[in-house]
Amino acid sequence: MWDAMGVIMKKLDMLYEGKAKKVFKTDVEDVYVVDYKDDATAFNGLKKGTIVGKGVINNRMSNHLFQVLEKEGVPTHFIEELSERETAVKKVEIIPLEVIIRNFSAGSFAKKLGIEEGRKLLIPTLEFSYKDDDLGDPMINDYYAIAIGVATREEIERISEMAFKVNEVLKKYFAECGIELVDFKIEFGRHKDEIILADEISPDTCRLWDINTHEKLDKDRFRRDLGNVEGAYNEVFKRLGL
Ligand code: 5GP
Repeated sequence: MWDAMGVIMKKLDMLYEGKAKKVFKTDVEDVYVVDYKDDATAFNGLKKGTIVGKGVINNRMSNHLFQVLEKEGVPTHFIEELSERETAVKKVEIIPLEVIIRNFSAGSFAKKLGIEEGRKLLIPTLEFSYKDDDLGDPMINDYYAIAIGVATREEIERISEMAFKVNEVLKKYFAECGIELVDFKIEFGRHKDEIILADEISPDTCRLWDINTHEKLDKDRFRRDLGNVEGAYNEVFKRLGL
């Protein structure tokens, strides 16, 4: 039970448990509660582990970045932080697309194209993956997305425009904290007549490198067994002044 948005709000049944978060219904129309866990998975759930304190960091960081984005005109699902790990968010219908923006070659891009990690791309790129664990989130294009009915042409255009805007705002914001925004994944949802930014933005969903040394400060430390995973998440948290 919380006093949020000036009303007493009660957490009700769990709707969904994902790899890193749980989502609960509330007794308030249009409001869900997200609860961030310390669980970490990679490679479509094949690798599992715990990053101690990750839930607290991702909750705070995502909320902070969503507020930065709201100020710059990007609508998000954020309503109010309720506790260290819990946040009230607007109820959305998630569009089953992972929207990935890249500023540098890394990860699957580097592997697919045989381009070394760390090469700066001449323009930021955008790609879509169809969110389906059984299929391993296959990469699709805008035609596929429209053809299978996951989004309309107008929605794809709005999503793309918002994704590039998120990149411009966050690239600058992270750079001021000594961090290079290499790439990231975001998700969108339908809310009333609008497309809004949903899910989270955190070291789980971004590649974040020290701007000078290119030291990895994100989930790749877990994926690639690089050690000091908690230290990296804490370092980003500290540099953002959180
Ligand atoms: P890549 O395609 O190179 O593996 O990932 C590109 C970017 O999107 C990385 O910042 C990565 O963290 C993020 N990303 C892609 N797919 C997922 C996913 O299923 N879960 C999470 N948390 N991040 C993802």
